Amino acid sequence: MAAAAARSVAAGGPASLSRFRGSLVAAVLGDCVGGEFEGAEDVPVENVLQHLNSLDDESKGSGILEYSDDTAMARCVVQSLLTRASFDEQDMARRFAKEYSSSPGRGYGSGVIQVLKKLSSPQLSDVYQPARDQFNGRGSFGNGGAMRAAPFALAFPDLADVKRFARLGAMLTHSCSLGYNGAVLQALAVHLSLHGALNLPQQFIDRLIAEMEEVECDEAVQNDARILKEAEKPFCERLHRVRDLMNRSKVSIEEVISELGNGIAALHSVPTAVFCVLHCLQPREIFPNSYGGVERTIAYSLALGGDTDTIACMAGAIAGAHYGLETIPQSWIRCCEGAEDADVSAERLHMLYHQSSQGGRSSCEGSSKNSSNGSEKKTGAK
Ligand SMILES: [Mg+2]
Repeated sequence: MAAAAARSVAAGGPASLSRFRGSLVAAVLGDCVGGEFEGAEDVPVENVLQHLNSLDDESKGSGILEYSDDTAMARCVVQSLLTRASFDEQDMARRFAKEYSSSPGRGYGSGVIQVLKKLSSPQLSDVYQPARDQFNGRGSFGNGGAMRAAPFALAFPDLADVKRFARLGAMLTHSCSLGYNGAVLQALAVHLSLHGALNLPQQFIDRLIAEMEEVECDEAVQNDARILKEAEKPFCERLHRVRDLMNRSKVSIEEVISELGNGIAALHSVPTAVFCVLHCLQPREIFPNSYGGVERTIAYSLALGGDTDTIACMAGAIAGAHYGLETIPQSWIRCCEGAEDADVSAERLHMLYHQSSQGGRSSCEGSSKNSSNGSEKKTGAK
């Protein structure tokens, strides 16, 4: 615990620059190093360690591990928030479409590709419509909204703004409540971590449950949950499982996968990412003692297999906001495409965030006139 406490101090106080940099950079690292095991069913820890050790080889050059759709879309979110100094759904949608058309080989899913192609149409008036039309009008419940949600927590100091804009940002591609509420949970977790809430892990998970209780108190959630045969409040139910698992002295990787999942549904990956962070707050014997918290968290996310790049990306964003940039190995940053850019963007987000909080206003005035979209009935399938 002493080491963990020291790392928290290293990260500085609430909403310090180090926490912003740690969050955005570790998200990119999770995506880049996680790509190696994406879709694997069984990932031995030795293979994870071997992959991570290979990052120390300086002869390999910079940026050898390319980022995927997770980072590509998160970069669009960051650039839109910085450029507009607010949430502007038209601008964000345009950036998603442009990014996809300029670099389509980043591993996008076939469902989201259809949405991104429609978003590029100059005739489109409602940027939320293509996502609503997906899967016979039921919308997607995948984790594509959650994987790019961290920047909302880094742009808006007010928690209500974080929740609202993370939801709307996700709804540009994922209109099922089981998709966009995954983004809300991810942004909430980053927000709380940024403020030092992981120093008290029990309170952290209790707060997440309490917040999601409120978020899931919604007719659209109840409809979607019924259709998909999930618990009445699906994310709350999963977070209770996270709390049970984190309080057990021993938990196997198989148990984590069977209780929480490791798949592409937001429900089967965002609570899993939260668990990875909580489980790795303390040193774990399967990892070298030299590993800091961000390294442990990302390594553990990879060892779960499944949607490793996205789970490691989301867990990295939450963990990085807790431990700060200084705990992240330089060799990892050097090897991962986009990590240095993320560091620069994090500084700019830090400025925007503190300007907004000092200005005493929400930095989201003007746009998001379509926020009523969030209360529409949504049913869903991937
Ligand atoms: Mg990906």
